[in-house]
Formats: sequence, C-alpha cells, structure tokens
Amino acid sequence: MQYDRRMPSFGPAEATAAPTLLERDQIPDRFKWDLSPIFPDWDAWDAAYGELERKIAAFGALQGTLARGAAALLAALKLRDDIGQLEYKVWYFASLRYDQDQRDNQFNAKRQQVQILFAKAAQAAAWFDPELLAIPLETVRQWMAQSADLGLYHFAIEDLYRQQEHVLDDKGEHLLSLSSRFSGSPNDAYAALSTADVKIPKVRLSTGTEIALTYGQYRAILATNRNQADRATAFHEFHKIYESTVNTYASLYNAVLQRDLFHSQARGYKSTLEAALHGNNIPTAVVENLIETTKAGTAPLQRYHKLRKRVLGLETYHSYDASIPLVDFDRKYPYEAVLEWLPASVSPLGSDYQREMRAILEGQCIDVYENPGKRSGAYSAPVYGARPYMLLNYNDTLDAVFTLAHEMGHSMHTVLSHAHQPFVYASYTIFVAEVPSTLSEALFLRYMLSESSDERERVVLLQHAIDGIVATFFTQVMFADYELQAHRLAEQGRPVTADVLGDIYFGLLKAYHGDALDYDEASRLTWARIPHFYSTPYYVYQYATCFASSARLMHALTTGADSDRAAAVDRYLTLLKAGGSDHPMVLLQRAGVDLSKPETVRATIDQLDALVTELERAIS
Ligand SMILES: [Zn+2]
Repeated sequence: MQYDRRMPSFGPAEATAAPTLLERDQIPDRFKWDLSPIFPDWDAWDAAYGELERKIAAFGALQGTLARGAAALLAALKLRDDIGQLEYKVWYFASLRYDQDQRDNQFNAKRQQVQILFAKAAQAAAWFDPELLAIPLETVRQWMAQSADLGLYHFAIEDLYRQQEHVLDDKGEHLLSLSSRFSGSPNDAYAALSTADVKIPKVRLSTGTEIALTYGQYRAILATNRNQADRATAFHEFHKIYESTVNTYASLYNAVLQRDLFHSQARGYKSTLEAALHGNNIPTAVVENLIETTKAGTAPLQRYHKLRKRVLGLETYHSYDASIPLVDFDRKYPYEAVLEWLPASVSPLGSDYQREMRAILEGQCIDVYENPGKRSGAYSAPVYGARPYMLLNYNDTLDAVFTLAHEMGHSMHTVLSHAHQPFVYASYTIFVAEVPSTLSEALFLRYMLSESSDERERVVLLQHAIDGIVATFFTQVMFADYELQAHRLAEQGRPVTADVLGDIYFGLLKAYHGDALDYDEASRLTWARIPHFYSTPYYVYQYATCFASSARLMHALTTGADSDRAAAVDRYLTLLKAGGSDHPMVLLQRAGVDLSKPETVRATIDQLDALVTELERAIS
C-alpha cells in the first residue's frame, strides 16, 4: 500500500515551471534515495524472488492441514507472514527503481514480473480463509488461549470471523463472483466517456490566446488567471462537456447505485452505507454525524468566501472565483532550509520523534528532485524490513514544502508502526493513514506562522491552510452527503435522473454556501464530473474523518496545561505505534478521538473559524 496526497478531483493545478531539470547523475547522492538497505544488488533481489516463489508453493502445500490443531494453524500463519515480508522488499526494490526513471524497460519488466508472482501468490493462498472459517470459532479460541504465539493473531482471526457474517454459502459466493465481471462496467464507461471519448473544447482568453481546455488547463485557469471573465468562460465551456451527455452520465451513475444496492441486499446488509463501512467496522452513525454537524457549521466557510469577494474586489462571486490566490507571492523555499524547519515544527511531539525524523531526512530515503523520466507527484512507501522511502518532485514552492510535511507524517507513522507491531499488524488502514499526514501539515503551518514576519507570506500561509480545510473537509463531506442521498434514492426505489441528481447537488451547494456565492445553473452538472462517485463510492468521507481527527488531536497537542499536553502526545504516539492492531475507530478512541460525537467534527469547524478570523486580521 502506498499513500500519496492526491485528493479526489482536486489534483494540483498545472505545475509552475520547475527549477532547472538536472540529469539524475548530476544530482548529489544526499538528495537521492539509496535502495541498498532493501537489497545490496539485483543478484540479491533475484535470490529473494526465488525464495518467494518457493515459499508461495510451500504455502499452497499446507492446504488441508489447518484442522490438525494450533501448531498447524500457527505454521501456516507464520509462513504467510514470511511471504508478506518478502513481498514488500521484492516489490518495492523493483518499483522504486522503476519510478526513478520510468523510461527504463528493464526495470518495468522486473516490476511486472513481481505483479505476476503476486497474482500467483493470491491464487495459492485462496484456500486459507474458507478452510479456517470451516473450523468453529470456539475451537480456534481455545487454541489461541493455549498458545501465546498463536494468541498474537487474535485480532486478525476474530476479525475474519466477524466478516463472515455476510459471507454466503458456496453457491451464493460463486454467483456473486460471476457478477464481478460486469460490476466495474459503469466506471469503465464513465472513464471512456469522460476521458477517452471526450471532445476537448477550445476557448479564447481575453489575451487573444486560444487554448485546449483539458481538465489540467481548466484547473490552472481557475487557480492562476486573474481575469474573472476568463475564469467564467473556462467554467461554462468546461461544463458544456457534461451538459451534452448528462443523461448518459446519470444512467451510468444509476448503474453504480443499483450495483451497490444489489450487493448490499445480496449480502444481507440493512443499507448500502452499512455494506460500505462494514469492512473497517465503522458505525453508520459516524458518516451521518459527520454530514449533520458539518452542514450546521458552514458559517466560517461562508465568511471566508465573503472575505475573498471583498479582497479580490469582485462585484459578483462565483464558484469559479474560489481558487484564485488572494495575493501574489513568489518566495522560494530551498530544500536545505526546510530540513531545519521540519524537525523544529514537530517539537510538540518530543525529542525522540524529532530524532527519528532527522534520521529519515538525513538517511537517503528521500528522492528529492525531479529528473527526466521520474514519476510525477509524491508518495511515501512503507517498505517493511527496510524503512519508509519517499518520492518527491521538490520545486521550491510552498506547495512542495507542505507536500514534504504531509508525506513525512506518513513516513513517521510507518517508522513507529513497523518498530512496535508484529508484521501481521504493521500496516495501517486508510481510515487512520491521513491523520498523521494532515497533522504533520498542521504542525508545520503553526511553525511557519510563528516564524514568519512577512505579512504577505502570512496571508499565503493562512489561505493555504484554509483552502486545505475547504478541499479536504467541507467539499468531501458535501460529496459524502451527495453519495448518501443518491444511494437512498435507489434504496427507496425512486427514479434516478439527471434532473434529480442535479437537484441534490445544487441543493447541497446552496446549503453550504448560502448567500456567499452567486450561483450558476451549470453547477447543477458538477456531480457528473467527480471520478470517485463512479470508481469508489462511499470513500471520500474518510478524508474528512481523518481531517476531523487530526484537528481534534492538534487542539489537544498544542493547548491546555503541560500535563494535559504531555498525556495527549503520549496517546497520539500510541496511535501511531498501534499500526493496524485493532479497528480504526477503537484506535482513534484510545487517542481521544470519538468520531461518533458532534464535538469531534466541530473541532475542524472551530479550526476554520479561527483561521478565517486570523486571515481577516492579517489582510485588513
Ligand atoms: Zn496522504
């Protein structure tokens, strides 16, 4: 699993020109990752690949042995862990090397070789869950009570049995597996309609230049073009793409809803939402609370947009005016300077944490600069048995600095989780993953605000923080609300048409923005564009719950009496060290975050309120 900061439908606008692009061998070694802690060379990789093949075959040979007792089950679980650990190293050695220069076919071939082996491994292991589940849970519990080594797997085994509740008999499972052949069709058709078959419109800007309005260009105009008429043109032309085929989009989205309803009914869930949350054992009240509390707390969001309207000097203020920076600012942030700031920013988390972070920053596990052929974007890769590796395309902008802070949160989570958990619980779920990354950004912002004496820079920092909350929290909750309402239409057997979907989306837009926006009819179409609605329904709410958790933790870590803060730091580090050793709600509750309570969600709304107040002060 890999965590990166790409947000649903809010990818970064077309990047500004990077500093001079150097060939990889011209970049000093300390700015490039060193993969030798994974394997010293390709011979070692080949040997490990062979070992992995042998172990996969050996695991297949254990089929039929589990019922023999505790020792047999333990042997299978241990071998499965060995395989998993080797998989991390074999996969990442090839895939990180490939990402350095994706033009290299040799490494692409090795990467694909691993993917093929993984498919074989999955097949060779498919017998395990059904064979274990055929043994009564009470028997397995007795085995676990008798063997401490087996007891280690307690949570993993109990969770497997918990999930069995909605597993059908062989005949039913077979039938459902056959339906998987077309369950991806609505999303495939959406991708074809919105990307492969799309006719990119040409627009003429006020300067006379004509441009092809790709999604990247559209985003770039909204984020950088200071002429409102140009932004309006881009907005209206871009939405015409969806207007011309909106009934097809509605029909595809209805197929998504009907598919989700089919699966939830077939497996005996009360609703599509319950079916989606069951895997992580999240109560449906979490999403309902998130939606309700956020909708009731949109006042600071509206204040922010009204402030923007005033500062930008606009007569009318539309959704296409919401991304333009409030001030022009072009300070550069050299990587070497940030190397000092980043550990300083996490001082509230203690000196051990700072030391671990310095070890990452100085240990050649970060691939800092762009080079020809390198993969774009940024990620943190948790390489079990080695260390976390980080890919960046650092270009000295403020955005690049925050990307580094974000990925560093993931990397530190990996370091602590791998150090304190056995392999079976070493990886964490997405539901928790974005907590340390967003908290790391929040701590960095706090540090930068305390250090900066430049008024323009303070405005830029505040806007960066506010826009982060708007995009990662408010917009995602609004999307989650839309998904829930749309799925309920299907559940209640009501018609799903482009008009109905447009009404839901437009209604939400108005509920969130009140009189702070001037509305355009074209906004009725925006739902049709959002890729996550088609690819991964009920997914985006997790960005918002992570953000709310991190706001709540940030408050506890940085305010109140010394002893309270120290206790909060301890609870937070315990969360990071806990990896995936329990359900995410339980882990977060132990850290002092209860997502079923309105006040947890309100922490984010309060955070936004405070930031908007600070921005009002900084800009007046
Ligand atoms: Zn992330």
